[in-house]
Amino acid sequence: MNKHQPETPLTSVSVSQALEAVLSLVSPMPAATVPFTSALGLVLAETVYSDMNIPPFDNSSMDGYALLAEDTSGATQENPARLRVIGYLPAGAAPGPADRVEAGTAFRIMTGAPIPPGANAVVPFESTNEGSVLSAPSLQPGEARAQQAIIGSNVLIYKGVAPGANIRLAGEDIRESEAVLRQGITIRPAEIGVMASVGKSRVLVHRRPRVVVLATGDELVDVNERPGPGQIRNSNSYSVAAQLTSWGAQAFNIGVARDNRADLNVKIEEALALDPDMLVTSAGVSVGDYDIVKEVLLSRGSISMWRVRVRPGKPLALGSLGEAGVPFIGLPGNPVSGMVSMELFGRPAIMKMLGKSRLQRPVITARSLETLGNSSGRASYLRAVVTKEGDDYLVRTTGDQGSGILTSMSRANAFLIMDETTRRVEAGDPVRALMLDWPEEVF
Ligand code: AMP
Ligand code: MG
Repeated sequence: MNKHQPETPLTSVSVSQALEAVLSLVSPMPAATVPFTSALGLVLAETVYSDMNIPPFDNSSMDGYALLAEDTSGATQENPARLRVIGYLPAGAAPGPADRVEAGTAFRIMTGAPIPPGANAVVPFESTNEGSVLSAPSLQPGEARAQQAIIGSNVLIYKGVAPGANIRLAGEDIRESEAVLRQGITIRPAEIGVMASVGKSRVLVHRRPRVVVLATGDELVDVNERPGPGQIRNSNSYSVAAQLTSWGAQAFNIGVARDNRADLNVKIEEALALDPDMLVTSAGVSVGDYDIVKEVLLSRGSISMWRVRVRPGKPLALGSLGEAGVPFIGLPGNPVSGMVSMELFGRPAIMKMLGKSRLQRPVITARSLETLGNSSGRASYLRAVVTKEGDDYLVRTTGDQGSGILTSMSRANAFLIMDETTRRVEAGDPVRALMLDWPEEVF
C-alpha cells in the first residue's frame, strides 16, 4: 500500500489523552518476595520494621580513650590529665564482667567498640599524648602482647570533653520495631543498606514487568548483518529494549516479524508464550502497513489506532491481547518516533506497573537559546540539550529534528516541549524541558 495515500480518519488525541489511555491498560505488578539485593530500583510492597536498635549498643565514634568526662575537666597541653589505661576494646570486642572504668582510669577503644561500663565519654587520640591515630601504635584484635604493652601504662589527656562526647547511643539511628522503610518507596542503594542493617534479607516488592519487544518490517536485518539493497539494521528492538531495561522492566527482544500475516501470527504466539505483562511492537502502524497488524491483533484481542497530536511519533496503536488481556503498545517505526513514544507513553506505563506513585520525568523551566516555530498544531518534543549557567537553565535543540535522525537522540539530555497551541518561542523565552537524564554537566 502507498503510505502517501490520504489518511483514513483516525481518532486524533492529545498527548495527555493518549497517556491516559495507555495508563488505563496497565496496573501495578503483583508483589513478590525477592532477595533484598535484587530489589534495587523496585518499589516496596510492605513496610520494613527494624528487629533491633541500631546501633545495638552505645559505641565509640572515634579511636581514643573511653573514660569519665569529669576526669578530663580543665585538662590542657600544659596541664594534662593523667589516667591509667586498664583495658583495650577493639571493634567486635565486648567488655567482660570485670571491665569497668573507674575514676582515674581509661580504656583504649577503637571506633565501633562498645563503651565499657562506667565510661561516659571518649577522648580521641588527637587529644592525647598518642597524637594522631596514625602515629598511635596499631593494635589488632588478638594481638595480645601489644595490648598488654598498653595496659598498665598512663595516657595523657590534653583536652577536656563533655559527658557523652564521641559516643554513639544505642538506637540513635533506628529504634527496635520502628518502621524504617515505608511501603511504596523506591529502593535505592541507601535502602539496600538499611535493609542489611535490620536483617531484612528477603523483601516484598512489586515485581518487574515482563515486556516483550517485537519489531516488524521486511527491510530489517540484525546487528551483525550488513544490510543489502533496500535493507537497514533493526535498531528499534535494541533501543526500546534498552529503554525498558533502564526503567526497571525485564525486556525480551524476540526479533523481527516480517510484514505478512503468517509471520506476524507466529511471532505474536512466540510473544504470548513468554507470559508477558506487556507487548511492545515497532513499526507497521503507519497507515500503509497498519491493516496487517490490525487484522492479526484484532483476531486475538482488541486494538485501537490513534493519531496522537505529537511530533515526532504521530501513529500509536493500543490494545490488549490474548485471554490474559496483555496490554499492547504499537510504536511508530521511525527510530526517534519510537523512542519518543516510549518516553511519553511507555515509560509512565512501566512506572505504574512498577508500583511507583510518580510516573513522570522531571520537567523544568529553561531559557530557550533559539527562536523556534511550531505550526503543526501538534505538541513538539524537540531533542535538546539543557545546560546550567549561573542560576539559569539554558536549552538548545540538537539540530535536525527529522524522526529518523537517531543520533540527535543520542546527543539530547532533554525534550524541549512546545505544546499544541504554542506557535512560536523567541530566543530567551522560558520553555519547558523534560529531563531525560540529569548528567553532571547540567549543574
Ligand atoms: P513504518 O512504521 O513501518 O512505516 O516504518 C517507518 C520507518 O521506520 C521506515 O523508514 C522504516 O524502515 C523504519 N523502521 C521500521 N522499523 C525499524 C527498526 N526496527 N529499526 C530501525 N528502523 C526501523
Ligand atoms: Mg514498515
